[in-house]
Amino acid sequence: MIQKELTDETRKDLKDYFQNRDYMVIAVPKREPARVYVVKATGAVETARRIHGLSPGATVALGRALIGAALLTSLVKHATDQKVLLKIEGNGPIGTIVAEADGKGRVRGFVENPQVETFTKEAEGRTKFDVSRIVGSEGTLTVVKELRLGTPYTSVVPLVSGEIAQDLAYYFSQSEQIPSAVGIGVLVGEDGSVKQAGGFLVQTLGGISDKVVDLLEHRVTELPPVTQLMEEGKRPEDIATMILDGLEPQLIGLKEVEYYCPCDEDVAKSSLLLLTESELNELLEEGPAEVVCKFCGRVYRFTREDLKSGKPQ
Ligand SMILES: [Zn+2]
Repeated sequence: MIQKELTDETRKDLKDYFQNRDYMVIAVPKREPARVYVVKATGAVETARRIHGLSPGATVALGRALIGAALLTSLVKHATDQKVLLKIEGNGPIGTIVAEADGKGRVRGFVENPQVETFTKEAEGRTKFDVSRIVGSEGTLTVVKELRLGTPYTSVVPLVSGEIAQDLAYYFSQSEQIPSAVGIGVLVGEDGSVKQAGGFLVQTLGGISDKVVDLLEHRVTELPPVTQLMEEGKRPEDIATMILDGLEPQLIGLKEVEYYCPCDEDVAKSSLLLLTESELNELLEEGPAEVVCKFCGRVYRFTREDLKSGKPQ
């Protein structure tokens, strides 16, 4: 694990190293038990948009979920392939949203209705996406932690807003008993492409002083939207420094974030082997059976011969 003061020099090194890449920083105050995670995921969300042909409304909703999943990796071991799956099932027109992330910073996801209509609302003097209308304000948020130690842990909480960030904050406080503040933003350009996407998670841990809790609450409330900060050129380490200003911020973790799908022929084949003999025969009557990966759109084709080699007798 790294442990570095978040000085101007450290921040410049990070900026030079990552440039336009996506990454997450984990920072802590030197003397108080709290953690701050800030992620930039512009490239990952844009990749999701292109893979799935997402409408602007779907880009914002899935983008928020992907960033949320990246922030949820605070619950798994850093730099491992332990993973977290976030599933949002709201009563809005987008249907189910699935996003997954692992301790190495790899994210992937999909939505049921990628072409969902884009709803907007007027707030704070400008037109914003109405994400809770797209997602739905009633439903559930499910988190599945796969720690590779046997059974995955699943927790379900009701949606509290459908805006995703607030729903995650609620999940952290209810299911994990960690008081948390979450901010997530996805900014879509005129042409529908992703201009900025990122988020933060601030958590206070046991033994923290009331004074620092108040200070962090105040900082989070006063913080401009993440995408606005990113538009101004602020990077994850700068945002972490803004939140922890005066508390001697230390950088304790760093990882590149990317949209990555580990699917392969074996995974695709095993999904076909779950079918019954007659379902499979029906599928193979019209030629090779096709499996399309929901996360990345890759198409796998199997002939009867291909499948024989793996089909149990
Ligand atoms: Zn895939």
